[in-house]
Amino acid sequence: MTSQEIKGLTQSYIMQTYGRFPVAIDHGQGATLFDPEGNAYIDFTSGIGVSSLGYGNQPWVDAITAQARKLGHTSNLFYTEPPAKLAEILCRRTGESCVFFANGGGEANEGMIKLARKYSFDKYGQGRSTIITLNNSFHGRTITTLKATGQEVFHNFFFPFTEGFRYADANSLESLEAAAGDDVCAVMVELVQGEGGVLPLEHAYINALEKLCAERDWLLLVDEVQTGVGRTGSLFAFQQYNILPDVVSFAKGIAGGLPMSGFMTNEKCRDVLGPGMHATTFGANPVCAAAGLVVQDILSDTFLREVWEKGDYLRKGIESLNLPCFGKTRGMGLMIGVEVRDGWTNKDVANKLIENGLLILTAGPGMRLLPPLVISKDEMDKGLEIMKKTLG
Ligand SMILES: *Cc1c(COP(=O)(O)O)cnc(C)c1O
Repeated sequence: MTSQEIKGLTQSYIMQTYGRFPVAIDHGQGATLFDPEGNAYIDFTSGIGVSSLGYGNQPWVDAITAQARKLGHTSNLFYTEPPAKLAEILCRRTGESCVFFANGGGEANEGMIKLARKYSFDKYGQGRSTIITLNNSFHGRTITTLKATGQEVFHNFFFPFTEGFRYADANSLESLEAAAGDDVCAVMVELVQGEGGVLPLEHAYINALEKLCAERDWLLLVDEVQTGVGRTGSLFAFQQYNILPDVVSFAKGIAGGLPMSGFMTNEKCRDVLGPGMHATTFGANPVCAAAGLVVQDILSDTFLREVWEKGDYLRKGIESLNLPCFGKTRGMGLMIGVEVRDGWTNKDVANKLIENGLLILTAGPGMRLLPPLVISKDEMDKGLEIMKKTLG
């Protein structure tokens, strides 16, 4: 099919809930994507932080193919090897104690919220169920995680939302105290606010928050759906903050392009959810888990250091272009935000770049770059060259 035909069918038969860029993607190699007509695009998006190994990664393709041939799905009523191995690796590499596997980020956060409320219910009974989240956060699209998201624009249309959330400003302990109370059971944060505009939280704030949570027996819930699995230059961003969350969720990059998510808990919380209390039919799918094992295999400590170096290279590269539309850059590893100056909009910038063969994301009022973690120096240079040509 041609790009035009694909767009036509999509617009006729798929619900129009996405603001799509005017590009159809057919296939890819490394960090380069191609439309059906064969036009190439340098990819600074990885399908919103998912395709961390890029496209056509041979070990990933081989593992998925082999596992699909052996066993595609059995449900969690039986034991299977790939998710068991993946859970062991995740715990061993992070110091967490056990894992629940799900399918998407919002679903993982929903489970994390259930766990926090159950922990408090077991210990203190009813009435201590409020979770404090941060303004400008993003936690998902379910009725509960929309309400957990600290942005008013998301609290619309779908009333009534789940009760039991209050909001505090990022990096402010005073604001957190103002939201505190006897009814609080947990605090939930992203360490780098992703959708909100790539805003890393301050280390001193997060360290103080961990202490405060321990003192008041609030669970510290960290949403690493976007920051997790190598994106920021460590396996999880919390490792760079020197904390161990009570519960941490992950999704996007966990299986390098197949739908998988989950949350891990520390020793204290490992038995909070028992048989029959939480479940999902597709969770811990063996094909997704086999893909996840390849991701873990490739994301060695050396590879993660390179992610950090690449992020540094790309950020400095953008800064040294001195483009009139771009302001300051920020981020961690290959999660990069770029401010867009007054007079420009991030959507216009993205559309211009796409016309010239560079795919890029927006977040908040700025640009967001989430390239595949395997991106080569040559591909980064090509992307920078397109920026210079298009926006210089
Ligand atoms: C993407 C994202 C989610 C939602 O994940 P879905 O897979 O779309 O449900 C939740 N939290 C954060 C931080 C995200 O970046």
